[in-house]
Amino acid sequence: SGRWARAEGVVRELEERCASPAGKLRQVADAMTVEMHAGLASEGGSKLKMLISYVDNLPTGDEQGLFYALDLGGTNFRVMRVQLGGKERRVVKEESKEVSIPPHLMVGSSDELFDFIAAELAKFVASEGEGFHLSVGRQRELGFTFSFPVRQTSIASGTLIKWTKGFSIEETIGEDVVVELTKAMERQGLDMRVAALVNDTIGTLAGGRYYDNDVVAAVILGTGTNAAYVERAHAIPKWHGLLPKSGEMVINMEWGNFRSSHIPLTEYDQALDVESLNPGEQIFEKIISGMYLGEILRRVLLKLAEEAAFFGDSIPTKLKIPFILRTPDMSAMHHDTSSDLRVVGNKLKEILGISGTSLKARKLVIYICDIIAFRGARLSAAGIVGILKKLGRDTVASSGSEKQRTVIAMDGGLFEHYTKFSQCLESTVKELLGEEAAESVVIKLANDGSGIGAALMAAAHSQYT
Ligand code: ADP
Ligand code: MG
Repeated sequence: SGRWARAEGVVRELEERCASPAGKLRQVADAMTVEMHAGLASEGGSKLKMLISYVDNLPTGDEQGLFYALDLGGTNFRVMRVQLGGKERRVVKEESKEVSIPPHLMVGSSDELFDFIAAELAKFVASEGEGFHLSVGRQRELGFTFSFPVRQTSIASGTLIKWTKGFSIEETIGEDVVVELTKAMERQGLDMRVAALVNDTIGTLAGGRYYDNDVVAAVILGTGTNAAYVERAHAIPKWHGLLPKSGEMVINMEWGNFRSSHIPLTEYDQALDVESLNPGEQIFEKIISGMYLGEILRRVLLKLAEEAAFFGDSIPTKLKIPFILRTPDMSAMHHDTSSDLRVVGNKLKEILGISGTSLKARKLVIYICDIIAFRGARLSAAGIVGILKKLGRDTVASSGSEKQRTVIAMDGGLFEHYTKFSQCLESTVKELLGEEAAESVVIKLANDGSGIGAALMAAAHSQYT
């Protein structure tokens, strides 16, 4: 019928605009490498901020003692404590707790947000029990994972450049987030020192390295997306400080803000961007990360309803509500293996109030999930290959030289739970590198490496060592 033809037309156009053949992905990877160079050359030299993290030493395994970590960077935040036992005993004990952030605090005042966090942290500290030992006379120390763009001024201070991922609190911008947290802890009567400020990518890199010496980069695919990697200090022209003893410096790429003319973009992406809290920014993030994939799908379904009366003569009202369709729901539909695509049917009904969908319609929904998720996964893979190129690890080691293993530590709910996404990402990295070069590259889920990583960074920068 006419409806189906129109629906298929909409989907065909989506598919064409989202196409990401290997050639295009190579251009994206090359553009990533070019922008990395530009961002390292000068401040503001690129959309990629390539922020200097002040982390010039990654964990060795020798770290010892009780340390806390606090992870703020999405819809939840996590508090954690860990008892480190050195090279032999490693992580002796760890405990953590996750707290969801009331949405009104994400767009309220700075003090309210930090007070809430400090209060939860204080409660958690009060529950410290057996197996955790603070040496006599010592102050508790914390690694603060704050996953928003920060201009770091030392290992334990940094000013917020901008909020992302749905946070928007004007007055925090330009403030030192460690000072904000410290003041809030004082208001709670909590005696604790922030020993290290990192973001989730750097935490994941540190946690990853603690368990595997060949980890050279970390990528987060969660609510948002970002990457960090170990750079040679002398390859950072904009760094005018002393060269670190290690000769290395961890760079926080802030790759969510990457953009390139080679990235396939659609009308849906453009509209999503214009209507977002941060128009024109975080374009890479807006097409690959968990905050947005479900929203892109909603926009395509709305178009189908409008242009092809895909869900009947009237447009389902709920379909007009931004962000009503979340990526975990999209993922659940996408992984539906039942013969009648019952999960798809149920989700459409429960979330969007659309009942009685035909199998054919459900199949088309799955097909749209393929298009949106695989574009995101393939572009993420291209970004990773861009980093490998920058590191000179995208090709087979020249004959005679020892085979060098390269590990990328991955974390984030999207990568962890959206299997079709992560499988596509991994196979695309292989496709782009070629069989032989791909053999020495490992993409490894470093589950919650970032919490332990922040605690390890606090240990490394303790006032007592
Ligand atoms: P954050 O990025 O907020 O710090 P996580 O790393 O836990 O936290 O990632 C959470 C995000 O991961 C969610 O916002 C969601 O987009 C995505 N996610 C969580 N579960 C799933 C799932 N089952 N399928 C797809 N995406 C998921
Ligand atoms: Mg996180």
